Parts: sequence; C-alpha cells; structure tokens
Amino acid sequence: MRSSIGGPRVMLRRLRETMAEPVTAQERLDRIVVLVAANMVAEVCSVYVMRGDSSLELFATEGLNREAVHKTTMTVGQGLVGVIAREAQALNLPDAQSHPAFAYFPETGEEIYQSFLGVPILRGGQTLGVIVVQNMAPRTYSEEEVEALQTIAIVLAEMIASGELQTLARPGTELALQRPQQLMGRSFADGIALGHVVMHEPRVRVTQLIAEDSSAELERLDAALESLKSSVDTLMQHPAIRDGGGDHVDVLESYRMFARDRGWARRIREAINTGLTAEAAVERVQNDSRAQLIRQTDPYVRERLHDLDDLANRLLRELVGWSGHAGSGQLPQSAIVVARNMGPAELLDYDRANLRGLVLEEGSPTAHVIIVARALGIPCVGQVDGVLDLVRTGDAIIVDGGAAEVHVRPASDVENSYVDKVRMRAKRQERYQELRDVPTRTKDGVDLTLMMNAGLGVDLPHVEETGAAGIGLFRTELQFMLATRFPRIGEQEAFYRTVLESAGDKPVVFRALDIGGDKILPYLRQDEEPNPALGWRAIRIALDRPALLKAQMRALLRAASGRKLSVMFPMVTEVAEFDAARAIVEEETERLRKFGRKLPTSIDLGVMVEVPALIWQIDELASKADFLSIGSNDLFQFVYAVDRENARMAQRFDQLSVPMLRIIKTVNEAAESNGIPLSLCGELASHPLTAMALAAAGLRTISMAAAAVGPVKAMLLSLDLEKASAFLEEALDNPPKDLRKAMIGFARDNQVDLDI
Ligand code: PEP
Ligand code: MG
Repeated sequence: MRSSIGGPRVMLRRLRETMAEPVTAQERLDRIVVLVAANMVAEVCSVYVMRGDSSLELFATEGLNREAVHKTTMTVGQGLVGVIAREAQALNLPDAQSHPAFAYFPETGEEIYQSFLGVPILRGGQTLGVIVVQNMAPRTYSEEEVEALQTIAIVLAEMIASGELQTLARPGTELALQRPQQLMGRSFADGIALGHVVMHEPRVRVTQLIAEDSSAELERLDAALESLKSSVDTLMQHPAIRDGGGDHVDVLESYRMFARDRGWARRIREAINTGLTAEAAVERVQNDSRAQLIRQTDPYVRERLHDLDDLANRLLRELVGWSGHAGSGQLPQSAIVVARNMGPAELLDYDRANLRGLVLEEGSPTAHVIIVARALGIPCVGQVDGVLDLVRTGDAIIVDGGAAEVHVRPASDVENSYVDKVRMRAKRQERYQELRDVPTRTKDGVDLTLMMNAGLGVDLPHVEETGAAGIGLFRTELQFMLATRFPRIGEQEAFYRTVLESAGDKPVVFRALDIGGDKILPYLRQDEEPNPALGWRAIRIALDRPALLKAQMRALLRAASGRKLSVMFPMVTEVAEFDAARAIVEEETERLRKFGRKLPTSIDLGVMVEVPALIWQIDELASKADFLSIGSNDLFQFVYAVDRENARMAQRFDQLSVPMLRIIKTVNEAAESNGIPLSLCGELASHPLTAMALAAAGLRTISMAAAAVGPVKAMLLSLDLEKASAFLEEALDNPPKDLRKAMIGFARDNQVDLDI
C-alpha cells in the first residue's frame, strides 16, 4: 500500500507557500490539486464547487481530463460527489464503482479509478463544495489522510467564502455565499430597510490557517480556553442569572458543559497537531460537530448545536482578542444587525443614527427586544431559519418587516423595486406629516381621539412628531425589564416625570406594572408555571406583593404633583381587585398629604378590559372606575384560547372577527350607558383597516403604535363613519364568511384610504 509523501505537515507547509503566491485563483486551485495529489500519492485530486442551490461544478483537477474543468456538473445527491455534498460527510471507498451512488461522467475519464476519498468543503454548516482524491489501485485511505484532506477543505472553504473563486464561475452562476437569497421569517416590526449586514456576534474570519509553530498554537489555545471558562463561570455567577433561573441558566449550563468538555478541547488539540493554527483548528472541529449534529431532527440537540456554535465563536474571539459585541464598536452606515437573538439592552447599545434594521434567527414578536425595535422604528423580521449561516459581514441586505422577507445579496431588480417602495413610503410619510395638526374628523364630521402607546424614553418625541393627542398606554414595565434590579422609587419618579414633561399638556395614561406571562424580570423570583399567561401576573402579583405596587404608586403620585394623573390596572378579573388597588393608591395619597407633599390636581384610576369575565361586570366597574381601556391583545388571547406567544397559532384566527367586534361593541355600549370613558389600546388600533372597524363599532378614542397615528388618521379623514357603522351593524347581524374581506370591500367601494 502506498503512503503519503512527507505527511500532512509537509503538505500544509507547501500549501502555505502556495497561498502566498501572487497567482490567479484558477492557478492557485490548480496548484493545490497538484500538491494534494502528489502528497497523498493519488493519481487524481479534484475540487468541485457548489453553484446555485443544487449543483456542483468541477473547478480543478489533477489526473482527470482537464477539458472537463468548468464543464462537468452534477446535481446534489447525484454520484458520489453529489452524495457527499448532500450528506456533508466524507466517503472513503476502496471500491468506488460498487457504491450504489457511483455515476460515470465519460468526459472526465475516471472509469479507471477504483479507490475514492471525498470530503465536503464546509463552512458554518453549509456545503460549499467537495474535494476528492482517487487511485487506480484499491486502497483504504488512512485516518491521517482523511484529516489532511479535511484541512485542505478548510482552506478551500475560506477561498470560496472570500469570493475569490466567484470570478471563475460561469456568468450567471453564483457560488454559495455569493448568490442572492430570499428568506422568509415572521413580521416582528414593520418598515423597510436597505443596508449592509453587521453580525451582532461577528464570526471571526480565520485568515491564518497554517501554523508556523504548533506548540505555540497549543499554548494559545490553552490560554484562550482558560479565559473562556472563567468568563462563562463569571456569567453564571451574575446575580441576575444565578437567581433568575429559566432559559439563561440552561444555555449557560450547556456552555459550561462544552467549555469543560475534554473531548472538545482534545479534538481541537489534535487538529492543531496536524499543522493548523488554533483558530483554524477550532473552525475545523466546529465544522465536524456541525456536520454530525445538523442532521439531527431533535430540537433539543439542534438547540445545543447553536450553543456549540456560539461557544466556538466565543473561543475564536478569545483567540483573536476581540471582546464585546458589534453594538459596542463603531457602527457602519446603514447597518442591518443580524443576530441569533438578543436582549433589549444590547439593541439599545447600537448607534441609532446608523442602525437601520434587525434580523433574528430566533425571537418572538412580543419579546421585549422587539418592543424596543418598534419603539426605535427599526423594521425587524424574526425566526429567519438559517440566516446566520447565509450572511457575512458587509453583505448587501434588505429587510421588509411588513412582508416578513429578507433579501440577502439582492439582485439589482429586487433592489430597484425596493428603492421604489421606500420612495413611495417616504412620500406617504410626508403626507402624514402634513396631517399632523389636522383635527381627526371623519368625512361626516365625527371627531375621534388618537393616542399613542409608549414605554421607553425613545418613544417620547413621537408624541410631538405624530401629533398624537396623548399617550393612551404607557407600559411602565419596560423600564423594569431593561433594569438589572428593581428601579428605586426615586428612579421611577424621575422617569415618570420625564414622560409627563415631554407630553406637555397632553394626557398620559400610565399602566401599573404588567409583569408575568411573557414579561419577565430576571431579578424577580417566579416559580415556573404550566400556563404563565393564565398565571401569577400583573395585578395578581401587585396585590400579593403590595410593596411593589405601593412603591410605584408613590413614584407616580410624586411625579405628577401639580398635574393630572391617570393610572390603569392590567389583567383585572374581579371588581374587588380594582377596589384593593384603589385602596392602595388612596393610602399612598394620604401618606403624601400627611407629609405635606403637593398632590396631583386629579387622580383618575382605570381598568384594562383584558379578561373576558370583566365583560359581565362592566356596570359594577363603571360605578367605581374612572375609565376603561380594552387591551385587545390579551382579550383576544383569552376569548379565542390562543396563546399570543405561540407562533403556530399566530395566523389561525383573525382578530378582525364577528365575535371580537360584538364584544367590543357590547363593552362600548355598556361604557356609554354608564357614562364612563372607554378606549382601546391593543394592536387592533394600530392598523387602518382594524381601526376603521373599531370606529364603526362606536369607539371614539383609540391608542396605537406611534407609526400608526398618521395612517389611521388618513383613513379616518376619508371615512364616512355613518356608512361604515351601518355596514358593520349589518355584518354583525348577518355575518359574512370573512369579515376582514368584507371590510376591505367596503373600504374599496367607498374610497377609504387604507394605506395598502
Ligand atoms: C393588550 O393586551 O392589548 C395590551 C395593550 O397590553 P400588552 O400588549 O402590553 O399586554
Ligand atoms: Mg395586555
């Protein structure tokens, strides 16, 4: 049996020289195949590169007919090379022709070769190509030879990923990581952004692949592993994580597991011993692990793969001495941040002047980072499967938040159509600006009040910019969610005062702390609940832990001294809960009075109608509460028994439905007959079509996302409300099959401006 000449180390040394030579990409590839064939004493060495999604092309060969280069192609799954590409796994065959997948390509002249070793060229879990060696005589390639070929594959992966080989591709055929991709996700925040990719956790690009001194590389690895271990340990000891429990701990536990996994470190060491730098060795081991784990369908295992990816990336960053994430550095212009997931505080670290959009591989539409993204006006698409593997820093990218589409490296026609779309939207924005000070009056003369929802400091300028009549829902819990501990009373008071001052004479409705369910405070100990949405949350927590509510009420009363204060309570289920909350506010007011503090000029206390049981208590409530506000997001969740967090259920039922509108109408009539003001502040108010239905159902005050104020006002100005009310009345009496369609039809027939 033949054996390699000089072994892998010699081959790598030669390879390093080849990589440094100033030759064309084709010449470099040609030299690599000659070098590999000679070193492995193989008659053939060939490189196949993926183009498009489904085919491979012969890019270089030593031993096969050179005429076939850039001519022979095969689909993924076809022939041995196609199988390697599909399975992302090496094939080592002493008798290749007896393999069921063997396919014969006459132009290559490969029929005389019996033994075959092929390994995939992988990067970030994606197959970019295949490298093959062949011999006439039957032979089994040694473990060492397989390793050596895998190392060469890493070098080739970098050549492909860097775009160096794109120049060799036939015109019109894009290589992997170069071609345009259209990815679908879920719409998390509306808007369109064109820009360039910034990886939230940048992948380290390994440029130095071959080591000059392996023992120095081993030392570098040991030092990096040590500092990785201690940084994970420090993270685990962080009080927010240590006491917070839940997902954080799970993820970090698996980090710790891998960071301490001797097998992982051993495999990296072995790869260094083949002549790679520490960085290239980490990349190589990561590629292998990915190839093994990626075929697993078990979501738990796939989740651990993500963890392992993150950890490998952390280790690489330790090796090259990077720290922090992209938000802590200088952000290029028109940056679109791509991340697996992130927390709200991390998003706020980015320079708002250059941040244009956000793409998440995971995430959920009601996660706080998304609430922050919306507040910042940043379009966001989430749950974009595989996006981290498909993009690189600097790639052109378009985020279409409304359509839930992401275009990576878009073709020029796609880009042009988006440039037009953006222009159109900008024109509409100008129109909304012109409407800012126009009273919100329907065509037939009915006045409505459009308020906006807020929760962060960044929301506040929008009151002025949009011309909203005030803040109809201020989500106070966001300040708590961004903090690492309970904000002190003084901090709360200062923040509330800023909110009131920025609203000027306009009213602000503060919502008392609405935590629990999906809104987690990492520093508040909460037991795991089987159905958190139905569990210990909002006013239920507030009444069980009155110190929290007292502190917040004291802060609000102080902040609003000398002006009006409006506070509403979320998730009230029984009138008695409201009585108890009112008693706390009165107690706090009394306390401040005793201390001689200046009190608010009036204190209005309201109730959010979110729990269906309240619908049958409106009359009793109306005699006690000063106002009501329908929280349509939660109300829909409970009326339809659909978890608002569950992506699978998100499209199943429509909020614009006969039952929802009947309920809203009933509540409105009850509020009217009791003479108590009513508004609605859930998502239903944030779209012109659904807002039209709310107005038709009788609501005269609604509160919505800041960006919706202009479009909803434009709709109302074009609406004959009497006609719309009659149309809805008829639809509720004789329900159409699809209320949404019927309402769109009404709008179209009556030239209502729906912004679609
Ligand atoms: C609602 O439930 O409709 C609401 C406005 O509150 P949140 O979305 O914050 O639960
Ligand atoms: Mg709610």
